[in-house]
Amino acid sequence: MIKISLDNLEAIVNFHAEEVEQYINFDALQQRERIYVKTNLEKILKVTPEEHDNIIQDAKHNNIDNNRLKKAFVGGKDNGGSIGYTKFSSKATSTYNAYTLAEKLNVNVCPYCNRNYTFTIKNKNAKSTRPDFDHFYDKNTYPILALSFYNLIPSCILCNSRLKSRTKFSTTTHLHPYQESFNDFAKFKLKIEKCSFYYDENGFEITLKTKEPRAQKIIDDFALQTLYDKHKDIVLELIQKAQIYNESYLDELMQNYEGTLFKNREDLLRLVTCGYVSDDDLHKRPLSKLIKDISEELELL
Ligand SMILES: [Zn+2]
Repeated sequence: MIKISLDNLEAIVNFHAEEVEQYINFDALQQRERIYVKTNLEKILKVTPEEHDNIIQDAKHNNIDNNRLKKAFVGGKDNGGSIGYTKFSSKATSTYNAYTLAEKLNVNVCPYCNRNYTFTIKNKNAKSTRPDFDHFYDKNTYPILALSFYNLIPSCILCNSRLKSRTKFSTTTHLHPYQESFNDFAKFKLKIEKCSFYYDENGFEITLKTKEPRAQKIIDDFALQTLYDKHKDIVLELIQKAQIYNESYLDELMQNYEGTLFKNREDLLRLVTCGYVSDDDLHKRPLSKLIKDISEELELL
């Protein structure tokens, strides 16, 4: 999992909170509940991951009915028609919607798996696509968070719909992509099994290790160990590249091409490894965390 870090995050959060209000069906709430939601609306829509549990508990404490919250915030066929998150996530709306949010976030690789691209294409006359928005706290159990900015995780359809599906997530059980990253908690490691590892994928294993239980839950619930086993071809190439691109050959390439083909050594290493290897850039290309960790182990970096 790669942390979502954006320079203009605060501006996007503020804009989202202002614009998304139009999707809430206040009429679905009783008067007392309506007053509660309206009074706390900014807090609800901008609530940070650390405070998600408090918002849930506070609504419970104030006896705000979950079914009516569902009608107000989620919408959908059984819950009050096209309003709430259901309408927000539809491309039929011409105002601010999930496509607008996805464009603003510009998160182009799934933060959960770092395997799949999640580009946003919004085009009136052609096919459109965008990342899914995973509700970190699921919207049926916690409808009050259905439109809250930090509860909407841009992610690939495999992670959201196939792998996470109905699994319950919370900030106490799982790392949250707006708070944390695998960089602080988990590492890919290479385990050499046979001397054929230079040319044979069966000669080694890749393991994704962590001592942090919340990172382990992410690994398990998104089947990351099993899925990354499918990327042994990339690791085999790195093993081979580490032999070819030794220190003296890298120095020679820098001498010959610095300032013409490469801006700096990081540029050259990106070309060699095919990954964005700086910690701040891991989100830019699929498999970058795998490539960075294994390249470090092979002393390519
Ligand atoms: Zn994914």
